[in-house]
Amino acid sequence: MDSKELANLIFPDAKDVSYYEEKYKARELPEGAIVTRFAPSPTGFVHIGGLYQAEIARKLANQTNGVFFVRIEDTDQKREIEDGANQIIEALKDYDLMPDETIIDGKDIGEYGPYKQSLRKDIYQAYAKSLIEKGMAYPCFCTPETLNAIREDQEKAKERTGYYGKWTKCRNMPIDMAADKIKNGESYIVRLKSPGNPDKKIKHRDVIKGNVDMPENDQDIVIIKSDGLPTYHFAHAVDDHLMGTTHVIRGDEWLPSVPLHLQLFYMLGFKAPKYAHIAPMMKVDGEGKRKLSKRKDPEAAVSYYTEEGIPKQAVKEYLMNIANSNFEIWRKQNPDKAMEEFDLQLNKMGVSGALFDMVKMLDVSKNVISKFSAEEVYNESYKWAESYDAELKEMLEDKEYALKVLGIERGNVKPRKDIAKWSDVKDSIYYMYDDKFAKTENFEYQKINDEAEINSIVKEYFDKYYNEEDDKETWFNKMKDLAEAFGYAREVKEFKANPEAYKGHVGDISTVIRVKVTGRCNTPDLYEILKILGKERIMKRV
Ligand code: GLU
Repeated sequence: MDSKELANLIFPDAKDVSYYEEKYKARELPEGAIVTRFAPSPTGFVHIGGLYQAEIARKLANQTNGVFFVRIEDTDQKREIEDGANQIIEALKDYDLMPDETIIDGKDIGEYGPYKQSLRKDIYQAYAKSLIEKGMAYPCFCTPETLNAIREDQEKAKERTGYYGKWTKCRNMPIDMAADKIKNGESYIVRLKSPGNPDKKIKHRDVIKGNVDMPENDQDIVIIKSDGLPTYHFAHAVDDHLMGTTHVIRGDEWLPSVPLHLQLFYMLGFKAPKYAHIAPMMKVDGEGKRKLSKRKDPEAAVSYYTEEGIPKQAVKEYLMNIANSNFEIWRKQNPDKAMEEFDLQLNKMGVSGALFDMVKMLDVSKNVISKFSAEEVYNESYKWAESYDAELKEMLEDKEYALKVLGIERGNVKPRKDIAKWSDVKDSIYYMYDDKFAKTENFEYQKINDEAEINSIVKEYFDKYYNEEDDKETWFNKMKDLAEAFGYAREVKEFKANPEAYKGHVGDISTVIRVKVTGRCNTPDLYEILKILGKERIMKRV
């Protein structure tokens, strides 16, 4: 028997690879177009680092008129959860990161499918068969016990562990013997017959990490498991070849596998894609730093941001900050441009893990939300409240009123920046609702704390100065008049120049009115607040 017959015995039904090479034509795309992908396991869980990868991939494809696709890597079927793949696609959709090609509800969108590995079994088997035919792969009958024994021997001899070179048992098994075992129903897997020599180095030029030299691979890795499905290593090579991936953008935990992956591409006769290995998100933990962990850190899950009500634009902007540090400067120079106009560069990405900083994220979010219109803030916070805060939802039911409240200090040159997430909205507007205001307890007047003084300021203001019809300038001048009447400076400047001459300044006086009317010493524009509340409601409050 020869290797061709052995291949036929193992995969009698597999097609010749020329069938697939013909079926999946090279993509016709403009020069420089990047074809890239996000390749999650269908666990349903999206890690913030996964979203980061998808955002980068989506953006690079957009920037180059390329393609971004999502391939579901479900060859480790133990990790699959029901509907996990759809949940991941949904999350991407929520973040406006929809792939051009993928699988949804079992239906392929795109010409290069199936986009789910378990549906590509026949394809992998065809390529595995071609390797066996050429003597580049072989069936291995080693049981877990044999493999254990090999490892123990290696440990005793203080040698590298693994299935390679002289330690292999099945690599050089005569073909007839292998064929007999298969015919006898012995269980087996298929291994690569690695031609590598670890004393030699491969030169890899990573798009992010730069030049990295690593020893050649000599492990006879498993390419097809006993369930007939491929391993990740083998599957990704076949898929990225047939799907026309130009750039594999993935987590840097895969960097050590590059020698093996380049070897696989070489042995399969494929042109290797470019690799861009992304450093993980880090978090400060005690003295040191560690990777953001699914198990320990709630903020590692993309669902966390939805629950907190951090808008997707903010999450994406923050991630862009991490991806290219020059984004921050660009944003300062172009405050009103859409993020899509920023030119993301893979080679400007950090080589080592960036710190994931929630404070910074919320800061970015405040800026992002400050540019939202009242209508957008309304719609987004209402949507959030529907799932997470019944009280806020009820407050927002009167849309016309809510729009006025949310519109305070919005749409101008220096918009309010007190909302970082939709879960902040209730606290930032409750005092505009009479029933909530009625429950306010601690009125803190800050500078002026003499009750008699407070009462007379309030009385005087509403008796003599306040007029619902006043425009903003008149209103403010009256506040200054009131300050003067009580022995406070009309301007902060005047007070600072001559503090002995005054009891305080106009700001202290307006704070008294502000606290009396809202229960808070910090609010957005008081003039607008008074306007919206209107005389009748204000009078009830004071
Ligand atoms: N399924 C692999 C993972 O989640 C994908 C790696 C890749 O992008 O190639 O880690």
